[in-house]
Amino acid sequence: MLSHHGRQAWVLDGAGARHLCVFKGRGLTPFANDQVMVDLSSSPAVITDILPRRNQLIRSEVRRSKGLAANIDQAVVVVSGSPPFSDELLARIMSACAAADIAGIVALNKTDLVTATQQAEHQLDAFRAAFNDLGWQLMPVCAQPGHPIGIDLLKTALTGKTSVFIGQSGMGKSSLLNALIPGINLQTREISQALNTGKHTTTAGQMLFLDQHQSAVIDTPGFQLYGLHHLSAHEIALGFPEWQRAQEAYGRCRYFNCRHLEEPGCSVQAAVAKGDYSARRLALWRTILQNSVD
Ligand code: GDP
Ligand code: ZN
Repeated sequence: MLSHHGRQAWVLDGAGARHLCVFKGRGLTPFANDQVMVDLSSSPAVITDILPRRNQLIRSEVRRSKGLAANIDQAVVVVSGSPPFSDELLARIMSACAAADIAGIVALNKTDLVTATQQAEHQLDAFRAAFNDLGWQLMPVCAQPGHPIGIDLLKTALTGKTSVFIGQSGMGKSSLLNALIPGINLQTREISQALNTGKHTTTAGQMLFLDQHQSAVIDTPGFQLYGLHHLSAHEIALGFPEWQRAQEAYGRCRYFNCRHLEEPGCSVQAAVAKGDYSARRLALWRTILQNSVD
């Protein structure tokens, strides 16, 4: 499935043809890149089933969750120094990805803005250990037309894969996609056309192709919040692999279910106090844990 717009969706078949479909039943909620069963005999065609997902990336508030994409190989998180990115949002996205067993790339955009970029790199220093443990890559890029930086390298990293692009609004995700995929506006227009709804919002993600369907990217709407209510404390911790390593180095925390908040005998707090691990990351962990798990 390429995209869905309200109760309608575009589906790509094996021969490369697109079909505008509706969903069968209220319970069926396909995500971008879902493999779906379609009944083409009715008009409009009907999505009747969703095949089991290899993985799924979700963001969720207390009562609502939004599926961003399914069956993906990697996430590309776009950040920048101007406006300054939220490191809490980045940490939340990393937990959501780690819980879904998805590694990623952090594309540090707007590297033409030197001072702002230095500030962003300083913020990212706290994340380097986690990037390393989780197999994430940091790629400096500039999406500015005329003097692109790192675009070819990023394109190489996308080749042959299905990647979901996520980012806080204003980081330059649209500009970056434009630099990566010439003709992207045309693809977007083609997908949105013929809906005949008057307004057609992309509620989740939208699939776009870098080449003849070998490399796909899923564009998701920009946001300022990334809720993790669908995750347990254990799953959130997957995005903070440092705490596992701290306990390997300093011994286990006194309590087996230590949350590394204020508990006595906490190895993680001791490791951070010694300066071996980032105090900012521990602060982010505490904030996210306390605001996410009910
Ligand atoms: P989105 O909300 O993440 O999709 O961000 P946009 O692509 O709309 O970009 C937000 C603003 O940042 C726009 O004014 C862009 O022109 C600007 N922008 C995007 N990429 C770059 C870049 O690499 N360098 C600079 N200086 N500005 C950029
Ligand atoms: Zn602890």
